[in-house]
Amino acid sequence: MSLRIVVTVKYVPDATGDRHFADDLTVDRDDVDGLLSELDEYAVEQALQIAENSDDDVEVTVLTVGPEDAKDALRKALSMGADKAIHVEDDDLHGTDAIGTSLVLAKAIEKAGFDLVVSGMASTDGTMGVLPALLAERLGVPQVTLLSEVSVEGGTVRGRRDGDAASEQLEASLPAVVSVTDQSGEARYPSFKGIMAAKKKPVESWDLSDLDIEAEEVGLEGAWTKVEDAVARPARTAGTIVKDEGEGGKQLAAFLAERKFV
Ligand SMILES: Cc1cc2nc3c(=O)[nH]c(=O)nc-3n(C[C@H](O)[C@H](O)[C@H](O)COP(=O)(O)OP(=O)(O)OC[C@H]3O[C@@H](n4cnc5c(N)ncnc54)[C@H](O)[C@@H]3O)c2cc1C
Repeated sequence: MSLRIVVTVKYVPDATGDRHFADDLTVDRDDVDGLLSELDEYAVEQALQIAENSDDDVEVTVLTVGPEDAKDALRKALSMGADKAIHVEDDDLHGTDAIGTSLVLAKAIEKAGFDLVVSGMASTDGTMGVLPALLAERLGVPQVTLLSEVSVEGGTVRGRRDGDAASEQLEASLPAVVSVTDQSGEARYPSFKGIMAAKKKPVESWDLSDLDIEAEEVGLEGAWTKVEDAVARPARTAGTIVKDEGEGGKQLAAFLAERKFV
């Protein structure tokens, strides 16, 4: 038996960089360095562990929808140990929202062929955490989300979801979509050998026409959501110094009460 795993990996702006919005209120992706979303490294790790623990033939494909530079995210995942990569890139994707992104990812996953989709719990830039559920709906398969532990046996994926009050053991028959949390196990660092091997691994590039998607279905035109306005966070003002001349405690309490901290 063989198992085809597709891991969705997002190329995100580096959170330590200076990020801004472009004039059309989309994220300015040209002006800032990017990287593989840290939360998707956990998804790659879990897919690789499933492959390593399986007696079956397992193929791990990493998939991204993103600009030219998103290939860097794919290279990192390949150097961790994934077998091949798919990059969906098209100028008409500019401004695509979560609904549109889920359409593109779902069509790409269907075209690639899959038994299991592994996603991160959320991206580190958009952080909506909705894509895994949207993908399951579009692909018409079960979803088991926010897993801290995941395994595959036969035609079943199993996992543990930890909540505040209890942990649940969940399972679904394949094909299915799962998402994994940052508690699922540390992601491996690419080895030198892995980095060299990644250079020779196949990276397929698809555009919207390869996926039978019309330009109007994605981009700002096809988006279900619209950013109406965005303002920069105001610069920090100087703090308030409370001098204690007998009334310091009262002044402090009044300061906190005025700001509704107490
Ligand atoms: C060129 C481009 C322009 C965009 N412009 C906009 C815009 O103007 N407005 C807007 O709202 N959105 C835009 N998006 C889409 C946006 O960046 C997100 O991909 C989408 O909105 C999903 O939201 P999220 O990141 O919060 O997903 P979440 O639901 O938090 O993501 C969960 C998981 O889904 C997977 N995932 C999410 N996005 C991708 C991806 N692109 N590729 C592969 N896996 C993914 C990852 O595994 C991730 O961990 C754009 C995307 C691209 C590629």
